[in-house]
Amino acid sequence: MTLTGECFCGEVTYKIDGQLGDARSCHCSRCRKVFSSQASAYAEVEPGTFQWLSGENLLTSYESNQEFGLQFCSRCGSTLCGTYRGKVHGITLGCLNEDPQIEIGMHIYTGSKAAWDVIPDGVTRFEEGPE
Ligand SMILES: [Zn+2]
Ligand SMILES: [Zn+2]
Repeated sequence: MTLTGECFCGEVTYKIDGQLGDARSCHCSRCRKVFSSQASAYAEVEPGTFQWLSGENLLTSYESNQEFGLQFCSRCGSTLCGTYRGKVHGITLGCLNEDPQIEIGMHIYTGSKAAWDVIPDGVTRFEEGPE
């Protein structure tokens, strides 16, 4: 499987050759700000399957601590990926162009969700992180 993704303005594009790892949605207050949304929607990529196709020079990085960071388009602001020790670790599902054939398998930190956020019935959820 080959998946592609891009930012809102379309300058930054990437491809992934292979399946995505587990997808999850974290509702904690930090992830809400990182994703500018009610929760994160994120999946890990297998090492070696991810490649930037265009616009890599427009990427800006923000590292919230020494190991984990984020890369986003400096032109339109879309957050495209998460990094671990400077390497792409996973992608934001919102920037994908195709159906990745996976679903968000778990909703975590629902105990600290925003008051206006409604978690759907029937999903796997954890008040905090999974065991
Ligand atoms: Zn952009
Ligand atoms: Zn979180």
